[in-house]
Amino acid sequence: GGSGSASTIRQVKLERESELRIEVGNDAPLRLRLLNGTAEIFGTELPPEIWLNFPPRLKFAVFTWYGATIEMDGTTETDYTADETPMVSYVNVHAVLDGRRSRAKASSQDDSESSQGPRVIVVGPTDSGKSTLSRMLLSWAAKQGWKPTYVDLDIGQGSITVPGCIAATPIEMPIDPVEGIPLEMPLVYFYGHTTPSNNVELYKVLVKELAGMIERQFTGNAESRASGMVINTMGWIEGVGYDLLLHAIRTFKANVVLVLGQEKLCSMLKDVLKSEPKVDVVKLQRSGGVVSRNAKVRQKARSYRIREYFYGLSNDLSPHSNIANFSDLFVYRVGGGPQAPRSALPIGAEPAADPTRVVPVNINRDLLHLVLAVSFAKEPDEIISSNVAGFIYVTDIDIQRKKITYLAPAAGELPSKYLIMGSLTWLET
Ligand code: ATP
Repeated sequence: GGSGSASTIRQVKLERESELRIEVGNDAPLRLRLLNGTAEIFGTELPPEIWLNFPPRLKFAVFTWYGATIEMDGTTETDYTADETPMVSYVNVHAVLDGRRSRAKASSQDDSESSQGPRVIVVGPTDSGKSTLSRMLLSWAAKQGWKPTYVDLDIGQGSITVPGCIAATPIEMPIDPVEGIPLEMPLVYFYGHTTPSNNVELYKVLVKELAGMIERQFTGNAESRASGMVINTMGWIEGVGYDLLLHAIRTFKANVVLVLGQEKLCSMLKDVLKSEPKVDVVKLQRSGGVVSRNAKVRQKARSYRIREYFYGLSNDLSPHSNIANFSDLFVYRVGGGPQAPRSALPIGAEPAADPTRVVPVNINRDLLHLVLAVSFAKEPDEIISSNVAGFIYVTDIDIQRKKITYLAPAAGELPSKYLIMGSLTWLET
């Protein structure tokens, strides 16, 4: 530290139902603690007096229901207090969901309809606060002892694992304000791209696989079933994006649709879903605290997310560099492959590109800097219907010696020799 620099510790007094909105600076972390009163970060209560370390670039709010004093140490990009928030409307939604969970729990397990807790889906444009609202609803539910399932369908800015995936994980405790969603054994399907337009059909197929898997888990687990799920979606709400939202609502049999900050989307959904009488469509206000992110910031966030997968949030993981022979690994991609030759088709049939065809890929320099998923598939034709164990990052391809060097979360053999490639790349920095 520089000599003579003044102490950066300062206190902020928050009135009831107000929040302190913070963007941590780009270069240094921020320490923060609750001095007195009670406060929460996106639904998770702060422990009294214990300093918490927030990494650079994190954007969050400390909200208090009854008043609190917060102490901060370090520099921020911005910090300001806001007394207008939509938190009361959000917690009212939570209360309704809580009632439905209790009713589901009390009802007969044999009645698959009434023993099912709420299936909530959060929709809205980009930067409307969908992930944040999902997180609050999950943390408030977990605080009450429920174990809701978090489903993240956002392949652009995944909050469960690396981008390009759809995933689900049970939430058993309020989500840690620093660490985020716990990473123990999530259920992950690899789509491989950060926008659905690369292969809309594949995206739909994977959403169906994930929904089917959760449905099966719910059948054997009354507690999860009664707790229900909270589904986070993409900010793409026009055209195909809208079709994909409807597809997700129907595939997951969502019965509560929360629409953030968009009148038009809300009325469109109300209109098409009115023939499905068990679905409630609820409009909610967007929080003024949600920070907008442009394409460049989003790209950066994706890159940090991949880094975090391998190295941990604060460099607390040590990934391993491994070398394998080309012949030890089998790389596949899905769709878009060369079409069947006309000569192989029945007379009169037109060759069509099958978007869900699994195509073997020759290992060559094209794989360099790609993030590949390690499939749980036992056979290549199971690749689409299988979830993935994790990811590797290709750091070198030696054509002459037919060797591939890659970074993996751990040393030793991969859980499977079947790898899936998409267009997800990363440049380690
Ligand atoms: P996407 O466009 O990726 O779908 P989203 O709608 O899910 O985004 P969020 O990720 O919830 O939006 O919010 C965007 C950013 O704003 C996040 O970094 C989040 O932590 C921050 N944020 C949300 N609410 C607040 C708040 N009240 N105060 C400060 N920051 C906030």
